[in-house]
Amino acid sequence: QAKKSGKNQSTYFTEILENSIIKKNNIQEILRYSIKNKRFRLLYQPQVDVLTGEIIGFEALIRLKDHSISPNEFITIAEEKGLIGKIGRFVIEEAIRQLSKWKEKGLDLKPIAINFSAKQLNDKAIIKYIEELLKRYDIPPQYLDIEITESILLDDDCEAINFINRLKGMGVKVSLDDFGTGYSSLKYLSKFPVDKMKLDKSFIDQYLNESGKKIIKQLILLAEAFDLDVVVEGVETIEQVRLLQKLKCKIIQGYYFSKPLEAKEISEIYTKKFDVGV
Ligand code: C2E
Ligand code: MG
Ligand code: MG
Ligand code: MG
Repeated sequence: QAKKSGKNQSTYFTEILENSIIKKNNIQEILRYSIKNKRFRLLYQPQVDVLTGEIIGFEALIRLKDHSISPNEFITIAEEKGLIGKIGRFVIEEAIRQLSKWKEKGLDLKPIAINFSAKQLNDKAIIKYIEELLKRYDIPPQYLDIEITESILLDDDCEAINFINRLKGMGVKVSLDDFGTGYSSLKYLSKFPVDKMKLDKSFIDQYLNESGKKIIKQLILLAEAFDLDVVVEGVETIEQVRLLQKLKCKIIQGYYFSKPLEAKEISEIYTKKFDVGV
C-alpha cells in the first residue's frame, strides 16, 4: 500500500514538473512570437502627489497584446531564456516615444518610469541606446526614470554602480523599486546613488497593525535621511492615503487613484487633480 502510494506520488510530481516545463516552453514561444511581431504594449499608472492631487509622473508597465499572462510570470521567463534584452529595448523606445507624443500635444512633460531588469546589463550598448533615443525624440533625460531592484547588485556591484552613474551622468533618473523585499536593503541603499525609493506594496498591506505602521514611518524617514523621494506602491484605500499623508509621504501609486491605463486614457486625465481630501 505504502509502496503503491509512493509511486503515485512520484508520478504526480513528475507530471507537475512536466506541466510546468511545457508551460514555460509555451510562454517562451509566445514571447519569441511577440518580439518578432511587436505584440507588446505599455500601460501607464499615475503617480500622484498626495498634497495637491496632481499627477507627477507615470510608471510604464508591460503587457502582451494577445495574452493575459502577467508580467511577473513572463518577464521571469524572458530573463531566463535570454529574451529580456529585446523586450527591454522595446520598453525604452516605446516610453520615450510616448513622451514625445505627449510633448507634441502640447502637454507639460511628466516623467515616465520604466522597469529595468538586472539581466539587461548584458546588453552592452544599452546606455548608448538610451542616449540616442532621447536625442532622436528630443526628450530631456530627466523625464526618463529607470527603476532597478537590488538584484542588479547581486551579480556585479561595480558594473551596476557604473551603470547607475552613467545614467545619472546623462541626467536620467534612477529609482530603487520594491524596496524592502530583498534581504540587504540597507546596505544597498548606501551603495546605490539613486534618486527615489519605491516602497513595496507588502508594507502598505500591513498599515493597519501598529508594527506595520511603525515600519512605514521609519522607511519614509530613512529615505529622507538619504535625500531620496519616496513613492509608496499598492495604495488601494482612502485610509491608507490618510495614514501616508500623516506620515509625510508625498507620492502615491496605487489602484486608489488609478490602475495602469492605456496612453489614450492617460491623455484624458493628464492634467486632472485627484481628490486627496485636503
Ligand atoms: P512593479 O515594478 O513593482 O510594478 C508595480 C505592480 O503593482 C504592477 O503590476 C502594478 O499594476 C501593480 N499595482 C499598482 N498599484 C496597485 C494596487 O493598488 N494594488 C495592487 N494589487 N497592485 C497594484 P504589473 O503591471 O502586473 O507588473 C508586475 C511586475 O512585473 C512589476 O512590478 C515589474 O517587476 C514587472 N514588470 C512590469 N513591466 C515591466 C517591464 O516593462 N520590464 C520589466 N523588466 N519588468 C516589468
Ligand atoms: Mg516598478
Ligand atoms: Mg515595485
Ligand atoms: Mg515587483
